[in-house]
Amino acid sequence: MPKTAFTDWTALPKVCLHEHIDGGLRPQTLIDLARQRGLKLPHDEPVAVGRWMADNANSGSLVRYLEGFAYTVQAMATEAACERVAFELAEDAREEGCVLGEFRMAPQLFEPFGLSAEAATEALLRGLQRSALPSGLIVCGMRQMAPDATLQAARLAARYQKDGVIGFDLAGPERGFPAAQHRSAIDTALAADLGLTLHAGEADEGHHVIAAGRLGARRIGHGVAVVRQAAGEAPRWSDIAREMGLHFEVCPSSNVHTGAAASIAEHPIAAMVGAGLSVSCSTDNRLMSATTLCGELQALHEQAGLSLQTLADMQAAGMHASFLPAPVRAGALARLQDWKAANGL
Ligand SMILES: [Zn+2]
Repeated sequence: MPKTAFTDWTALPKVCLHEHIDGGLRPQTLIDLARQRGLKLPHDEPVAVGRWMADNANSGSLVRYLEGFAYTVQAMATEAACERVAFELAEDAREEGCVLGEFRMAPQLFEPFGLSAEAATEALLRGLQRSALPSGLIVCGMRQMAPDATLQAARLAARYQKDGVIGFDLAGPERGFPAAQHRSAIDTALAADLGLTLHAGEADEGHHVIAAGRLGARRIGHGVAVVRQAAGEAPRWSDIAREMGLHFEVCPSSNVHTGAAASIAEHPIAAMVGAGLSVSCSTDNRLMSATTLCGELQALHEQAGLSLQTLADMQAAGMHASFLPAPVRAGALARLQDWKAANGL
């Protein structure tokens, strides 16, 4: 192996398990869609829009962070817009070397703007399927909504399973909105044999990760708090999570932006890997965090000290944990194996 610094992050076959479609618009697309809808954005030029979103995300204010989504959701509230955004997001991931993608959205968020959750789901699926990237859609319920509403979201996910919905998730504010309040939705998703992932241990304490696992989640969105426990306190959450076989979808820049991690250098991902947990790396919201999969991996390599071997292992862990069908996972793993062989790993 040459001793020069690794730079070709695009060539590494990558997996993205955690990307919100309404956080993944190209700035120019947001401008186009807002214009079509007569929606006034704070800026009308792509670099300025991108910077405004990133500045909000990095402001330390959740209110300002969420302001970005108020624009993207409203701008996306037509079938054509949903299809375009999903297609472009999958293509953007593919062009930076992603070989397996899972993208998520809470389709009920479009309803106040006149687009039904059913029509939105169909359009998002059409967009993803137009891309050459092997991908699937995860339907989110929002934790701040009533249990009846998240149950509807889970039923919607089950109804579109045959068309490309692969999983169900609870997104939205974690603190004060425990996943257990949405047990009907969770049980409906599980009964339909959908993959279940739950945001947990991002804004709240690590024991919520264990609670999510006990509710039936196979994967955890973020979960970084699982390694934040007082010394000597037993049992250790990370031990339980490892024994449960939970997989963690970690999004480093997003965690810094929401305050779940102080910096990339101090991000708990190294401790999570060190605790033997199954971990992958995703983007969460590439528009708001002004990031890419390649950018996340490069930052973990250069700032958090994760080796190329560790980062390659994380791709394999994510491919194994994907909710996509076994042949798709096997195809992605084969491409990763070829790359590892060519790079002496
Ligand atoms: Zn998320």
